[in-house]
Amino acid sequence: MADLMWAGMKTAAGPGAEFKQVEIPRIKDDQVLIKVKAASICGTDRHIYNWDPWAAGRLRPPLIFGHECCGEIVEVGRNIRKLRMGNIIAAESHIPCGVCKQCRMGNMHICDNLTILGVDTDGVFAEYAALPEIVCWKVRKSLDPAIASIHEPFGNSVYTVMSANVSTKRIAIIGDGPTAAFACGIAKAVGAEKIYNIGMQKFNLDICRQMGADDSIDVNEEMDFVTRIIDETTGGVDVVLDMAGNQAAIDTGFKILRKAGTYCMFGIPPEPVRVDISDYIIFKGATVIGINGRRMFETWYQMSALLSGGLVDPTPAITHRYPFKDFLKAIEMWGNNSEPACKVVLLMD
Ligand SMILES: [Zn+2]
Ligand SMILES: [Zn+2]
Repeated sequence: MADLMWAGMKTAAGPGAEFKQVEIPRIKDDQVLIKVKAASICGTDRHIYNWDPWAAGRLRPPLIFGHECCGEIVEVGRNIRKLRMGNIIAAESHIPCGVCKQCRMGNMHICDNLTILGVDTDGVFAEYAALPEIVCWKVRKSLDPAIASIHEPFGNSVYTVMSANVSTKRIAIIGDGPTAAFACGIAKAVGAEKIYNIGMQKFNLDICRQMGADDSIDVNEEMDFVTRIIDETTGGVDVVLDMAGNQAAIDTGFKILRKAGTYCMFGIPPEPVRVDISDYIIFKGATVIGINGRRMFETWYQMSALLSGGLVDPTPAITHRYPFKDFLKAIEMWGNNSEPACKVVLLMD
């Protein structure tokens, strides 16, 4: 094995990225080394590339970024218990400590000492990555590497959809990015009666429709969709899945939620938002659920059924595939939003 590998990095504080050769990581006893097969690019990576205030406050370059991947295990540490050479794995990006109160209460995904792959530790925009055993999830070998690489963001959508009971329900999915598109496919697969999808980008709304949305609403085109939804559903949808997370989305979401409905919040507002707790939550008798990450590992078992089991085909959402050597081209396109894109995947082989 060569000692050097190519990696997509932040070498200094500030906007941009570099593609350079660095040493292949050495694994610790509780880690495996994977040869990355595919890595997908996340909204988080856009923040990192553009070096927004969140990235500036959190990251400590030099750092290999990227946290969504699949790869083949090529080396195992001496304390590894279940993984074997040759296993193909997808990575969970939340690395739990295993011993804090939240970990012990079954909430590893919101561990008190959580570190995040490619944010707090070297990530997966690289030919090789060192990962602790706990975050490796075996996938079937025949699964398309591009699909295997999107388990992490797909899992956000699985956790969001499965946290409310959407079977036989009329629901609204707010947002049109990758997690909204995945949520449309998952909600359809688990039996939602009708999916209203509310967004603002035609390219992405089309993808959401291919994934399973029944009624696409472009907020720039249809002005009075709130009244229409409330009329058609006799009082509002049963469940709102908010994958957008901004003031307008939250106002819309609570308006179209029926009394005693469930509002699942996944989208992260960039700043504090105003919520009319009396009208939106108390008088409605609404249930509000916050979603962070993926339940470890309940969500991953559900995801296996959906992806490896073939209940959902996420292919329409994978709009761009780049060979890894074109990393800079891909991250620039994504970082600058220079063309319509949903999920962008880097392929290593
Ligand atoms: Zn991600
Ligand atoms: Zn912990």
